[in-house]
Amino acid sequence: MRYVSTRGGNAPLRFTDTILTGLARDGGLFLPEQTPDVRAKLDAWRSLPYAGLAFEIMRLFADDIPENTLREIIRKSYATFRHAEVTPVVKAGDVHILELFHGPTLAFKDVALQFLGNLFEYALAKTGGEMNIVAATSGDTGSAAIYGVRGRARIRIFVMHPHGRVSPVQERQMTTVLDDNVRNLAVEGTFDDCQNIVKALFNDLAFRDANKLGAVNSINWARVLAQVVYYFYAAFRVQEATGAAHVRFAVPTGNFGDIFAGYVAHRMGLPIDKLVLATNENDILARYFDTGAYRLGDVAPTLSPSMDIQVASNFERYLYYLAGENPEALNGWMDAFRKTGALTPGIADHPCFAAGRGDTAMTLAAIRTYWQQHRRLLDPHTAVGVAVAERFLDPAAPMICLATAHPAKFGDAITRATGQNLARHPLLDALMDMPTRMTVVPADTSAVAAIITGA
Ligand SMILES: *Cc1c(COP(=O)(O)O)cnc(C)c1O
Repeated sequence: MRYVSTRGGNAPLRFTDTILTGLARDGGLFLPEQTPDVRAKLDAWRSLPYAGLAFEIMRLFADDIPENTLREIIRKSYATFRHAEVTPVVKAGDVHILELFHGPTLAFKDVALQFLGNLFEYALAKTGGEMNIVAATSGDTGSAAIYGVRGRARIRIFVMHPHGRVSPVQERQMTTVLDDNVRNLAVEGTFDDCQNIVKALFNDLAFRDANKLGAVNSINWARVLAQVVYYFYAAFRVQEATGAAHVRFAVPTGNFGDIFAGYVAHRMGLPIDKLVLATNENDILARYFDTGAYRLGDVAPTLSPSMDIQVASNFERYLYYLAGENPEALNGWMDAFRKTGALTPGIADHPCFAAGRGDTAMTLAAIRTYWQQHRRLLDPHTAVGVAVAERFLDPAAPMICLATAHPAKFGDAITRATGQNLARHPLLDALMDMPTRMTVVPADTSAVAAIITGA
């Protein structure tokens, strides 16, 4: 399998080089040259445990890694999860909840970043190289990335978060990691500022090469790939329980990474009849799927900060398919977007997407209802997904709602919704007494570059 850039300006690469490169050299995102059709394999895959299923899916895409090595990378990556099923599914009311938060940082991003850390270690040992990972986070990516690579040889990681704009727990999850290869940078700006600095550093090809930059943001194809697995796993579990031929997924969405993985699963032939995209008040994506126009707005802080995003970096991957896998057409759209802050590609004529927005009141109401009626605590991101999912229920196609974070990561929202401080987790409680380390920096690319080079 080879990977091409959405913008057509990067020679096709094998899997390992694609992962090490991260963002394509022409500024585009990597996608596989073809999507494998796995419909004939689904029945054989149904009974596999999580790691076995991950191996069968990933070997189709990572065919330059020896099979035993890939198996071992996957085994190690999911041995750190606290649940034997890795991503279990539970029923709550009319929906099924796919619990993606049993990893080391209690967020779904662990599913991809534990894998990516092991993959980088393997690839760098093989090539003898080193890497400086540069990442931006609005909260959850940072700690999951740090836990994916902490203490590993050949890798240093620089994580930028918007200073004072991530929750205290999220900040502590990052800044209590004191390994020598971890640097936390608190940027005086927004998440989009952080993300723009990452993009500027990667687009400076001389800097990028000299400093061997690597990416862990959801632009990295390995992250999408790792997330494809749980769509299969959850669909199988719910089909087993209900006998349904098709399932639906509701996905709380920020950078369009997680839901894009669902779209890849759909393209591979998993019987998903709807992917329900759920946003908070920062609803550029929901507006796009309603109107066919992708138009920039302002970022407003909400109860679900990991979705407080306007420019969804992975959306370009979807646009590439919408453009008929034609890089010229895609480049035209991206240019228009850069110049005008809007693009109007229209809506695909195969409507597997539905979309909606769950605002603060709906988020709080969903948390309250699921606690009162089903004794389930939903974190505010999950609650946005559940609130929107309820508009798209169909008895013939069970709804699977992705639970993207443990509720204890967002205890204030739980308290606000239920009137009680119900969401605790011993791992998070323990953080409060631990020493921390971070560096405050201005929202300025050269200031960050100087830290990376050690100047
Ligand atoms: C990152 C994140 C999301 C959004 O995922 P995307 O892949 O950016 O769409 C949703 N919920 C939580 C808890 C997250 O950390």
